Amino acid sequence: METQIITAKLKLLIDAEQAGVLMETACAYRDALNQTAEVAFVHNKLSQAMKLQTLVYGELRERFGLPAQMACNVPRQVAASYKMLWSRTKTNAEHRAKGWTKKRYRGLDRPPRYSALTVFYNYRRDFSLGKDRTVSLGTLQGRLRCGYVGYQKHLDLLEDERVRVQGAKLWRDPTSKVWYLLVSLGVAVQPVAPETIRAVAGVDLGQRYLAVESNGRRARFWSGSAVLHRAEHFRRVRAGLQRKGTRSATRTLRRLALRETRFRADVNHQVSKHLAQPGTLIGMEWLHDIDERTERRHRPEASSKQRRANRRRAGWSFADLQGKTHYKAHLQGLPVIYVDADYTSQGCPVCGHTGKENRPGKGLRFECASCGFELHADLVGARNVALRTLLIRQDWIRTGCLSATPKGSDAEAKAGRLQRYLELRWSSEPNPLLDH
Ligand SMILES: [Zn+2]
Repeated sequence: METQIITAKLKLLIDAEQAGVLMETACAYRDALNQTAEVAFVHNKLSQAMKLQTLVYGELRERFGLPAQMACNVPRQVAASYKMLWSRTKTNAEHRAKGWTKKRYRGLDRPPRYSALTVFYNYRRDFSLGKDRTVSLGTLQGRLRCGYVGYQKHLDLLEDERVRVQGAKLWRDPTSKVWYLLVSLGVAVQPVAPETIRAVAGVDLGQRYLAVESNGRRARFWSGSAVLHRAEHFRRVRAGLQRKGTRSATRTLRRLALRETRFRADVNHQVSKHLAQPGTLIGMEWLHDIDERTERRHRPEASSKQRRANRRRAGWSFADLQGKTHYKAHLQGLPVIYVDADYTSQGCPVCGHTGKENRPGKGLRFECASCGFELHADLVGARNVALRTLLIRQDWIRTGCLSATPKGSDAEAKAGRLQRYLELRWSSEPNPLLDH
């Protein structure tokens, strides 16, 4: 059994007085986070939760009036922020050493600032779920009990016995001023055996199409132009507001950022829902290489066309799309297979000939310079990803374990995989990806 985390979004049913108590608590919690971040900063940017707790616990209890449990959650959260900042600093140092970027990461130059009105809770310690859809939350004024509403599927999960409540985050939507409790639920899922997987599909992400899927029988395209157009619009408005820099501009900017996040999340949710079909093993490109490519976008040799393509690719949250697909597949007991992105758009799926010359003018058409095979270029990408996924599934059946993902593997292992990928051919049979 494996565990998948799902977040249930519960809208709290509270009156004005209760909202006042939540506001008071969230403000104190936020101020405590900022104070703790300052203390951690002067102690060598401390990222150890226990040490930080001994430094601030007394002050959090007395000065900010936090209940005991919250006074422990605050240093834990701040320590986690510093851990992340340290790890980004390290990655940046590595990238600078390799010459991928010249920019120095500035995340640790000053303490992180917390501005959102959120409070983290621990299940059964400072929050609990009662009968008849009620929740009880720790506040500065003791326990607050209230009802909630939410999506039916989330409410069903709360009553599912496979589900374990893990923690929760109190959050106030700054636009609607409504308070929500975001509850993390761990759902046990039964992993699927590779032999029982009926179909394999490859997905090509980015550029002209957000996603192109090929599973041997059919191809599906999710147009990127409309959503990228809207993302670009958001980007321009944002840039204008940032130049303005007034207080009202900052407020509008914050609202806009939320709307943009929601828009992206909605699109990614729709696409990932279609991708994660029951019984289908999905293969996607490992995006790490794409991040590196966009990091290098300021290099002089990058053509303006290349830079524009990079910006568009970077302009969409593909990591989020992958994450959502991963999670939906995982709920059905299926993994998502990540394959190397190298040459997926340059290799001929029919004869194996690989090279830039197969993409005349880097256009929409793929034309094999060796055998003359022609197809939509993004569909070639998706087919190549599907073939690589199929190979990994075969290895999985043969060895009983799923491995050989690009994440964290060395150059030698990667060269070996690319060599094997070269031998893959797209068969002309009707269902080449359903070989039983
Ligand atoms: Zn060919």
